[in-house]
Amino acid sequence: MFVSHGAPTLALEDRPARHFLNSLGATLGRPRAIVAVTAHWETEEVQVASAAQPDTIHDFFGFPKALFDMRYGAPGDTALARDIVARLEAAGIAARCDDTRGFDHGTWIPLACMYPAADIPIVQMSVCPKQHPLFHFRLGRALASLRHDNVLVMGSGSVTHNLADFRAQRGTAAAEHTPPYCDEFCEWLAARLAAGDSDAVIGYRDGAPHGARAHPSPEHFLPLHVALGAAGVSWSGERLHHSYMYGVVAMDSYLFRSGHAAVH
Ligand code: ZN
Repeated sequence: MFVSHGAPTLALEDRPARHFLNSLGATLGRPRAIVAVTAHWETEEVQVASAAQPDTIHDFFGFPKALFDMRYGAPGDTALARDIVARLEAAGIAARCDDTRGFDHGTWIPLACMYPAADIPIVQMSVCPKQHPLFHFRLGRALASLRHDNVLVMGSGSVTHNLADFRAQRGTAAAEHTPPYCDEFCEWLAARLAAGDSDAVIGYRDGAPHGARAHPSPEHFLPLHVALGAAGVSWSGERLHHSYMYGVVAMDSYLFRSGHAAVH
């Protein structure tokens, strides 16, 4: 699946996206483990966090102290991390374990909402923004069989993520205003994912309405490509939630189901 994690204050604010994430754990049930592909871990080559007990990283500043006091104490899963690296290498994708990396807020903010008991093992994985979306789709494909082991692959990013637009509106009367390009991009994505159209989504930057404005840099969209690759050869994506945070950060979340009729 793919979740939009929004700003770190999602963990504190009374917003529709937070209520949705609070209910999502019960909707999904309890996987054996979760592979969390986070927009906030950018690397040259794929890295997989392999610590048995990862720390909580507060990779932000200028936010309330209550956020810095939060910890997400879920265990890691060293064996699963090594298994993921082996699967990626078998698919011709260079990858390595990192036994020091903790959970960044792309991982722990949504998971603290979804699974507050923090008792499901989490293996965090990086994105490689210098690589093409197709690379990330193939990365997900190499992990597709994990679902047979009841392992959930969860991409965490944002469906729209233009920080210049966010900063331009912040503190103004239009702080929660949503420009039309955000809706157009969100609705295009929902339609293409419902149709299982991976080619269109992989080519979003040139093919989607306002693809480059919705994502001036790709890191918050690449986790979605991993997630839809992990859904297998034929899939469809169901939008479970749609809202905005600060007007321009789309909080949409998707569940990908394999084996359904699809365009590709
Ligand atoms: Zn983020």
